[in-house]
Amino acid sequence: MNIMTGGTDYSMILYERIGAVARILHNRPQQRNAENTLLLDEQDDALSRAIADPAVKAIIIGGTGDHFSAGHDIKEGMAERKGSSVEQRWEYETRRYFGYAMNIFDCPKPTIAQVQGACVAGGFMVANMCDLVVASDDAFFADPVCRSLAAASVEVLIHPYVMGLRKAKEFLFTGERMLAEEAHRIGMVNRVIPRAELESATLALAEKIAEGPAFAFALTKRSLNRTADMQGMRAALSAHFDTHQLSHATQEASGVRERGSAAAIAGGKSAVQ
Ligand code: ZN
Repeated sequence: MNIMTGGTDYSMILYERIGAVARILHNRPQQRNAENTLLLDEQDDALSRAIADPAVKAIIIGGTGDHFSAGHDIKEGMAERKGSSVEQRWEYETRRYFGYAMNIFDCPKPTIAQVQGACVAGGFMVANMCDLVVASDDAFFADPVCRSLAAASVEVLIHPYVMGLRKAKEFLFTGERMLAEEAHRIGMVNRVIPRAELESATLALAEKIAEGPAFAFALTKRSLNRTADMQGMRAALSAHFDTHQLSHATQEASGVRERGSAAAIAGGKSAVQ
């Protein structure tokens, strides 16, 4: 199998091309693949690279180690951007959270999220922007930030579109984990695979898709995404982004910030356990 890696280009992600499949992996396994600024910038750069490479016909987004991603790197955020103004936060989150996520959704090539372990908050958002989701049997999903950060969920409120309105409310109000099996049952996940076979099964699915007529798939994806857009999805996501920004400026949220990142992270952890 011919594997070309991105080599030293990236430090927070791993970029590989395996035949007609590009694989973009969060690569901070010691930090449960928490998404810091550099990781997000590299991930978006790698996505552009995969889109631009005519040899790439399908894209996998995943993570190395035990977890897909624990979400945005709250520690780095608290250390580097604690005193951000509304304007600065708006600029940062518009580009790195909302913009990069929509770049995945709008990617003209088929995308598959490969999910093991934790897929939480910002990680949940990224995985669910992919066309398909393949999860291992040990995967779990959670978005505890309403409770832990007093934020209006994450920046891209994709939740009702992938789990339905009723489940989305329960998921966000309780912050509880949804296990892979339930995620599969409600249609949020396409396939659940034993952990040891996750990588090979996801690659096999990507290779099957990569064999198909690329332009027909691009047009089909365009129509499917437009269907969601015409039902108002993009406008709703955009409106939520604004509401989410308001939630960062509340007394509730500033109370959490005053207590510090350790308390926020602990709150998030207890919410998903
Ligand atoms: Zn935010």
